[in-house]
Amino acid sequence: GHGMPRPSTRRVLTVANQKGGVGKTTSTVNLAAALSMHGIRVLVIDLDPQGNASTALGVEHRTGTPSVYEVMLGEISLADAAVASSASPDLLCVPATIDLAGAEIELVSMVARERRLAQALTDEALAELDVDYVLIDCPPSLGLLTVNALVAAAEVLIPIQCEYYALEGLGQLLSNIDLVRSHLNTSLHVSTILLTMYDGRTKLADQVTSEVRQHFGPTVLRTVIPRSVKVSEAPGFSQTVLAYDPGSRGAMSYVDAAREIAEFGVEQPPAQQQTANGS
Ligand code: ADP
Ligand code: MG
Repeated sequence: GHGMPRPSTRRVLTVANQKGGVGKTTSTVNLAAALSMHGIRVLVIDLDPQGNASTALGVEHRTGTPSVYEVMLGEISLADAAVASSASPDLLCVPATIDLAGAEIELVSMVARERRLAQALTDEALAELDVDYVLIDCPPSLGLLTVNALVAAAEVLIPIQCEYYALEGLGQLLSNIDLVRSHLNTSLHVSTILLTMYDGRTKLADQVTSEVRQHFGPTVLRTVIPRSVKVSEAPGFSQTVLAYDPGSRGAMSYVDAAREIAEFGVEQPPAQQQTANGS
């Protein structure tokens, strides 16, 4: 494929949507893989105790593996936990183990509980890892783990499934983002919305697509990820769809989406932010 531009400064994107099954993990690992195919170095931080992103990237995440949990506790550095994925030497992953499931509660009593991840994402650590992008895969909740991810990033990428109730709960996510921006992280903004699991045979998918585009405008990537069995099969082989079936529509659409992010998804000032309207 064609090259993708390196960002002039390192970009940190949090992939968030408190709904489960909308394509957060799938989008995180496949966008990361697409970016890293082009010589850009990417770090995926798995922030879901399920460890699905770690699995898809072929990264060990048994209990006892150095993981994002120890990083957030301040016991080890980010670089100590980052390992190369099976996908590419330019695609690194900080895995999540099931230990992270307790963190949501353990963090409550900790100092700077919302900033534990941000504090680990130091310039030194990221320079040591030499990464251009950091993609953080969130769990399906708006709890402290997701808040940590929102505090640690400048950009939010929201995957939206082209399905019934796609916009349900989005207002809540957007108002949480607003809260984090006003209290904890002024640079936070929704930079990217990605429509996932599009099924062209249904009229509904088109309705959802146009509704989302109407509401969010140019923040929505032109590329839409199709529903594809290859995409869902790939993690079973500890692979991204780009490795599993590079010629598939799913793989190619993630490459297109990654290129849009690399070319166009460059920081938009928060002034252009669209706000929730209670949907
Ligand atoms: P989340 O991380 O938001 O919970 P996932 O990325 O795990 O969502 O996706 C939920 C399920 O849908 C997974 O089984 C995944 O393999 C499947 N899936 C995701 N994207 C696609 C797609 N484009 N086509 C088909 N299946 C998909
Ligand atoms: Mg997930």
